[in-house]
Amino acid sequence: MDTLDIAFAEARRFLNSLGTRPVAARGTADEMRLPLPAQFPERGMPANDVVRAIAAAAEPGLTGNAGGRFFAWVKGGALPSALAADILCSAWDQNAVLASTSPAGAVLEEVAGRFLLDALRLPTDASYAFVTGCQMAHATALAAARHAVLEQKGWDVEAKGLQGAPAIRVLANAHHHSSVTRALRLLGLGSDCIVPLSGDRPGLVGPEVLRAALAEAPDAPTIVILNAGDLNIGACDDFSTLCPIAQAAGAWVHVDGAFGLWANASPRLSALVAGVERADSWATDGHKWLNTPYDCGMAITRHASAHIAAMRMTAAYLTNGGPVRDPMDFTPEWSRRARAIPALAALMELGRDGLAAMIERCCDHAAAIYDGICKLEGATGIARPTMNQGLVRFDAKDGANISDAVIASINASGEAFLSGGSWNGERVMRISVCGWNTNANDVARTVAAARHALSDMR
Ligand SMILES: *Cc1c(COP(=O)(O)O)cnc(C)c1O
Repeated sequence: MDTLDIAFAEARRFLNSLGTRPVAARGTADEMRLPLPAQFPERGMPANDVVRAIAAAAEPGLTGNAGGRFFAWVKGGALPSALAADILCSAWDQNAVLASTSPAGAVLEEVAGRFLLDALRLPTDASYAFVTGCQMAHATALAAARHAVLEQKGWDVEAKGLQGAPAIRVLANAHHHSSVTRALRLLGLGSDCIVPLSGDRPGLVGPEVLRAALAEAPDAPTIVILNAGDLNIGACDDFSTLCPIAQAAGAWVHVDGAFGLWANASPRLSALVAGVERADSWATDGHKWLNTPYDCGMAITRHASAHIAAMRMTAAYLTNGGPVRDPMDFTPEWSRRARAIPALAALMELGRDGLAAMIERCCDHAAAIYDGICKLEGATGIARPTMNQGLVRFDAKDGANISDAVIASINASGEAFLSGGSWNGERVMRISVCGWNTNANDVARTVAAARHALSDMR
């Protein structure tokens, strides 16, 4: 067998085991270290032995999020075409930095970007970047925002930096994801620039709260950050109302749509994110709900010139500016994987109807898991999924909150994998369904695992 055959055999064996292997990784760190050399080898090893050793080392430590019963955090699997295209990307080893370094990388990224904007129903002339994940999509889009709000004040942030610049304030949904905070840190704005906004409804910014916050410093350069899907209950801000309020005050509106932006791809669910196309920038992920392999995030902005101003670099040895879009004009990276290609594959495999069906199916499965678990003695529904995220709480007979213990017991069963969180000060179990391959049988097995865990503990 040649080295690639060994890798393919290992990949197939893993994928075929997903229906029966425990969803949680089982191995100890020592088990994972054992097949590997204890020290950096003095002499190299045959490639086939290297691949076998690495596969043996990884096996006990692999998490089954590529399968149908993984509902922790927010993770998708990988569609067959996206996985296969990703393998080709590695084989081709293209540097998708410039059109000249990889015509294929640049042109296929252009097609992927066009399809992406269409799938998400965002402006067809928006600019986009394929980055490592939503974290870096925030950093990229917020760099464009930083450029634009300071340019309004006559400040060139790319040349002068932030020292001496007018202070930017960020009015953000109080339930913003920590990756937003870190993006602001990376951009030199710091977490203290965030003014958290809430409202009357859980997880949502109220229009009066936004108006009042904007009025507090009408002249300050301002970025507003809203949520399309918070990670606890999938709450989506009222974009139709909030975007015009913020934009009338000269603010840039950025949307964290890591997974929730994909609701816009479904005619049934798009009302949840009504008006989201009015924002100035959006960050989302391919590796969550589009079901591409890691790593794939997308930064999208309505203002291509601000996006390019924030990112473009020129150097004597580069050959940018031809008829084909140069990816690095839009990304914080220099050399980069052609990660748009697996996203292109996923978009083509699904098409508009398949994408909508996948998004709707995940939401239906999330509701079915929630409803099934809520019927169990000791389970209380906290938030029924309106999208693909729900919350439940588990109580002992004496009323003690045993959510974390029940989660641990379900995960230890190997049947399903879930994670916890805090909501209104109490511990809860989160249900998050993003996988293309979750089916009704997976839902039934998950509810059964929760029933067993609860009956063992109560
Ligand atoms: C996952 C997630 C992020 C971060 O995305 P990465 O792809 O992990 O960088 C940001 N916001 C929300 C709402 C998320 O669910």
